[in-house]
Amino acid sequence: VIEMGQPEHSVVTTCAYCGVGCSFKAEMKGDKVVRMVPYKGGEANHGHSCVKGRFAFGYATHKDRIRVPMIRDSIDQPWKEVSWEEAIGFAAKRLKEIQAEHGRESIGGITSSRCTNEETYLVQKLIRTAFGNNNTDTCARVCHSPTGYGLKQTLGESAGTQTFDSVMKADCVLVIGANPTDAHPVFGSLLRRRLREGASLIVADPRHIDLLDTPHMGDAMHLPLRPGTNVAMVNALAHVIVSEGLEDSDFIAQRCESDAYAKWRAFIADERHAPEAVEAITGVAADQVRAAARAYAKAPNAAIYYGLGVTEHSQGSTMVMGIANLALATGNIGRDGVGVNPLRGQNNVQGSCDMGSFPHELPGYQHVSDAVARGRFEAAWGVKIDDEPGLRIPNMFDAAISGHFRAMYVQGEDIAQSDPNTQHVEEALRSLDCLIVQDIFLNETAKFAHVLLPGSTFLEKNGTFTNAERRINRVRKVMPPIAGKEDWEVTVELSNALGYPMTYSHPSEIMDEIAALTPSFAGVSYDKLEQHGSLQWPCNAENPVGMPIMHVESFPIGKAQFAITEFVATTERANRRFPLLLTTGRILSQYNVGAQTRRTDNQVWHDEDILEVHPHDAEERGISDGDWLGVTSRAGQTVLRARVSERMQPGVVYTTFHHPGSGANVITTDNSDWATNCPEYKVTAVQVEKVSQP
Ligand code: SF4
Repeated sequence: VIEMGQPEHSVVTTCAYCGVGCSFKAEMKGDKVVRMVPYKGGEANHGHSCVKGRFAFGYATHKDRIRVPMIRDSIDQPWKEVSWEEAIGFAAKRLKEIQAEHGRESIGGITSSRCTNEETYLVQKLIRTAFGNNNTDTCARVCHSPTGYGLKQTLGESAGTQTFDSVMKADCVLVIGANPTDAHPVFGSLLRRRLREGASLIVADPRHIDLLDTPHMGDAMHLPLRPGTNVAMVNALAHVIVSEGLEDSDFIAQRCESDAYAKWRAFIADERHAPEAVEAITGVAADQVRAAARAYAKAPNAAIYYGLGVTEHSQGSTMVMGIANLALATGNIGRDGVGVNPLRGQNNVQGSCDMGSFPHELPGYQHVSDAVARGRFEAAWGVKIDDEPGLRIPNMFDAAISGHFRAMYVQGEDIAQSDPNTQHVEEALRSLDCLIVQDIFLNETAKFAHVLLPGSTFLEKNGTFTNAERRINRVRKVMPPIAGKEDWEVTVELSNALGYPMTYSHPSEIMDEIAALTPSFAGVSYDKLEQHGSLQWPCNAENPVGMPIMHVESFPIGKAQFAITEFVATTERANRRFPLLLTTGRILSQYNVGAQTRRTDNQVWHDEDILEVHPHDAEERGISDGDWLGVTSRAGQTVLRARVSERMQPGVVYTTFHHPGSGANVITTDNSDWATNCPEYKVTAVQVEKVSQP
């Protein structure tokens, strides 16, 4: 039941779910939200929204919210409700004791892509100052870290190149490993509009996605590649472009570094990358690949949109660079209707990466080994900063199990449910002497915590989110924090209790500090955001109101770099024991691990994760719709209900990860991207068999 009433006033704010970053008017009666109305002035959504965003306010006041801080000496003890002062004092004392006994490097923390830029900035600052090390990482590690790496290497900036509206000028749209109508619905609708106007569509995905069924659209083709073969596919597309003379020679000569291009051209022209040569690897007919390459290369404007089906692989970073190679080879960079566009999963993935959450980078992607950048932060913060990167999340887990890493501060991420190989994660969390969890609900990770600090939702705080098009949007407080504090205030108090003073009185002051230390944010302020509604970074002296399209005249690295993208097959292979490949994704009504959407009124459409199985595989195993299936991988076992579906290709099964009980991550493995350790969620060899109801 949706509680309605006559609104008395409204506040414009930003949706806290996906990377589209839709603006909403929260219509209020007193302190109570009665309705979320998509805001026409929102430049990412122009008055549109999806079902998730409209109902999002429901979870903010859900009965499951944590309202009081809690502590306990060990995880087998019951929680004790305490004051904020006692909880923060308890946490600070334990962190100090652990560092005194085990050293400065024995603790660390994880920032959240669900929190604001200001909160994320403060957590990494807390770690680099009060903790005194670089052991900071972010949940972007497990989704788009390869985007950050791959785009920085090739284009010089760890971000997508376009605005969402730019798709309305595209003549050909290549969607790789993304399902925009479910995962980024407002952008998915915009894209459908463009397809109905006649733009052609190429989808490279193991599964048949809804976009391919857009009514009244122009030409569309599906490249149903096998999971784990993205790089072989993108190399084959590039091979056709090079071997058939479809390159944009002028663009390459003017905008790309010549040595890197010459090496890449010699590499990609080799016949081992020809579509016919890789057909047996990808499973896609060579003539389809040739047709797709021609359609992309010959279109006046061709744009690439990609998602986690690109990044969450052992070659995620290689694939991102392969995508950049395609855009560079055809000159599809630096104007409307083209570009390389990562569709970010969470509301502030871009922002959490921008804000220096990674162990090797200070805010604005300034490497910790860069003495000039480091010196600027040291002068402003009054501390020495290590010039060596700290631990990544998987390194923290391994170090916890081996006893070298003893305490962790986790803000707004349910690592026990969302990270791969749950058994390994739980072993690591159980090994910690102190786990501090700051969250809005008692999540799976909190089961291993010693300190539980209530978090605040997007409706209870001020700040900014940065969406997938680098757009910095204001988040405005519409109701008081349910537990009395905004997340940034908690970090400030923890820092003060640890002996590193922080004195902010409003998030706008944190943004002012970010702007002073981060060249790409130098022109950002709350006043300017009020004036312009939103700003797309880089926003600085050269671009005082931001930059909608990147790389128009030059790249931050001068000339773009082609990258060698050798295909290396994942070690996760199907065999007689595990004959099917499992891949994962999302549905429209749920969001990530579902902690929020399962506590709102939009959850009525779906109530469980299911396993999609191709009719051929179902028949072989005697499986019908609704049967219970045991799904076993090399890492673990779970049980899911069956849906027999022509969307799948034979040999590939698919599930979602929105419900804690279904345990998709119980069966995903430890494999990860070679450059960034982003987990290989998208390829898991499994055995599937009918079982009785669990
Ligand atoms: Fe917009 Fe994404 Fe929120 Fe839906 S979930 S309203 S598309 S930001």
